[in-house]
Amino acid sequence: MSAHLLSDEDRAIQDRARAFVDEELIPWEVHAEEHDGHIPDDAHARHRRMAMDLGFSSMNMPTELGGGGYSMLRQVLVSEQIGRVTNALGWCVHTPAAWAPEVMTPAQVERWLRPAIAGTSHECYAITEAGAGSDVDAIEATARRDGDGYVLNGEKWHVTSFNTADHIYFQAKLVDGEHAGQHAMFVLAKDTPGVRLVREPRYMHTYPDTHAIVAFEDVRIRADQLIGAEGDGMSFTYAWFRYERLMIAARCCGAAERLIEEATAFAEERVQFGRPIIENQAIGHVLADSLTELWAARLMTYRLAEEIDAGLDVKIQHAHCSMVKLYASEMAGRVADRAVQIFGGRGYMRENVAERFFRELRVDRIWEGTSEIQREIVADQLRKRGVRALT
Ligand SMILES: Cc1cc2nc3c(=O)[nH]c(=O)nc-3n(C[C@H](O)[C@H](O)[C@H](O)COP(=O)(O)OP(=O)(O)OC[C@H]3O[C@@H](n4cnc5c(N)ncnc54)[C@H](O)[C@@H]3O)c2cc1C
Repeated sequence: MSAHLLSDEDRAIQDRARAFVDEELIPWEVHAEEHDGHIPDDAHARHRRMAMDLGFSSMNMPTELGGGGYSMLRQVLVSEQIGRVTNALGWCVHTPAAWAPEVMTPAQVERWLRPAIAGTSHECYAITEAGAGSDVDAIEATARRDGDGYVLNGEKWHVTSFNTADHIYFQAKLVDGEHAGQHAMFVLAKDTPGVRLVREPRYMHTYPDTHAIVAFEDVRIRADQLIGAEGDGMSFTYAWFRYERLMIAARCCGAAERLIEEATAFAEERVQFGRPIIENQAIGHVLADSLTELWAARLMTYRLAEEIDAGLDVKIQHAHCSMVKLYASEMAGRVADRAVQIFGGRGYMRENVAERFFRELRVDRIWEGTSEIQREIVADQLRKRGVRALT
């Protein structure tokens, strides 16, 4: 990215994030890969402390609440660097629910958000179900009014970080009252009676955080654990999708940069048939394609972040967040595939960065809305608004 588009302070933040990733996180990747995603507790604690001290954790939270109050562009710059490391080592940078400050009551902020911002508490999201993935409206989890509270029931899938979280955002449909059939979002402690871990399946990547299946069986909560109003639940999920889709795009740019750098260095040094393999056009061209696609994805990502900072209309934001997530995640997938090929047999070894990213980046085309769903959103917006409004 042309550095002149960034202010001196933007660049300073970017440099700090890059140094943190290079010096502190990347050295642990192979260890993590060989230990089911885990690194020693003291190293993990150090990473979390540094992420906090450097101002990256809670960078998305308002300064009044103890957060960093970063612009969207600066969050993208940090997330991009975080994307350069594998094995979720970058998850030591914790960004709590971006939509929460605007919609939580002061008491909810004190109880749930401030500890998350301070790093003493961690959330997870229980939205997806066995029968409701892309079609979030198909959820069957229920929230029934009961005296001055609610009773929650349902089974949630892929609950990321359930093993490390202490509270849960739970989306359900209301079964009674004037908003019956509509969505509502609740927050509850993980140790609330009736919350039961069903199992923690293993996934393609080697991460320390699990993606649990969790049952909610007659879980009683107070009325003040409803976030916003009854019927508001989906709007928070949409706000979260927009934010996460942009940050996924940023992380994918970071991953692609690392892969291109590493694959290029390898191709320059690896000699076959008496010359470095990069001297073969077949190798040079795939690197050229990768670099070109990275540049395109990065321009889109930075530009969207700047436009959001400038107050871009939320409907256009929604379409553009889908576009950058779609393009950047598919770009990074192509770059990882090519990098594995350039590394040859070494690219198939778990100690190789391309092998790890090849597996890890696959989910970026699935979570927070699959590529097909992003295309649906973009096509819908195209029909409604036309080409000029969206480009
Ligand atoms: C590692 C991981 C972590 C996750 N973490 C969380 C979490 O913390 N909390 C949470 O709530 N969820 C989480 N998810 C769930 C994730 O958001 C869903 O997997 C995702 O939205 C897709 O839903 P699905 O898996 O049920 O696929 P489905 O919706 O069943 O889709 C299956 C296939 O059909 C396609 N498809 C579906 N509808 C259409 C359509 N209309 N047009 C064209 N194609 C279509 C999809 O694109 C996909 O290719 C996580 C998933 C993974 C893999």
